[in-house]
Amino acid sequence: MLLIHKIPVLTDNYIFIIENTLSKEAAVVDPAISRPIIDFARSKKLSITSILNTHHHWDHIGANDELKRIFNCKIYGYSNDKHRIPGITHEVISGETISVCGHDFFVEDIPGHTLGHIYFFNPTNKILFSGDTLFSLGCGRLFEGTPQQMYESLKKITTLPKETKIYFSHEYTLSNLEFSQSIVSNLSALNTYGEYIRENIGSHFSSCPSTIEKELNCNLFLNCHQDWLKQALNSPDETDLETFTRLRVLKDHF
Ligand code: ZN
Ligand code: FE
Repeated sequence: MLLIHKIPVLTDNYIFIIENTLSKEAAVVDPAISRPIIDFARSKKLSITSILNTHHHWDHIGANDELKRIFNCKIYGYSNDKHRIPGITHEVISGETISVCGHDFFVEDIPGHTLGHIYFFNPTNKILFSGDTLFSLGCGRLFEGTPQQMYESLKKITTLPKETKIYFSHEYTLSNLEFSQSIVSNLSALNTYGEYIRENIGSHFSSCPSTIEKELNCNLFLNCHQDWLKQALNSPDETDLETFTRLRVLKDHF
């Protein structure tokens, strides 16, 4: 069986540990820092055999070298970005399926936040690691890519099965909620989710994982084709991409 553990680190990052419960092998997704991972692996008697990196930012690759030194693990990263992934041992390409801890993960190129951003998707258990591309109620900032690239990447993600669990790398959900409700006040799915978030918020609150279905219903960045969103932005005649671009700029300045 495959089990996903979530370790909150730094201000709002998540590190994920994929455990094969039979073999006790584990893989780490986006290790920002090493200490909590080492402690977790020891306490659960897991052997870390792989690291998966969604992109090159320091809060996703920071512990690559140290974990490799300690566990001698493989490091999977995007071949197009191999020079920015420390210690990379396995270069992956878009469309490839890799086997990690005895489970398959499909790799897809999703540029926008950075130009070398990928996701990892396990089709059997419908588990997605979306890095800094899709968050609950939000999407990543455009550091390297164009709005069009990010828009297309988000569309790619939404073609995955609706029940897919999304493990995203930052707990930004409350601020994303505040932004979303400042734009649209009467989206009932969003308001219902918002009530749940506000009732549960606290030091141990986590909105991760979300699902594709929930994000399709509530995430404004996935609804730029909707008339109700264009109307809320006073721009009924904009293209979907223009609406997305404007929404992203508004969020940057929120
Ligand atoms: Zn990032
Ligand atoms: Fe990040």
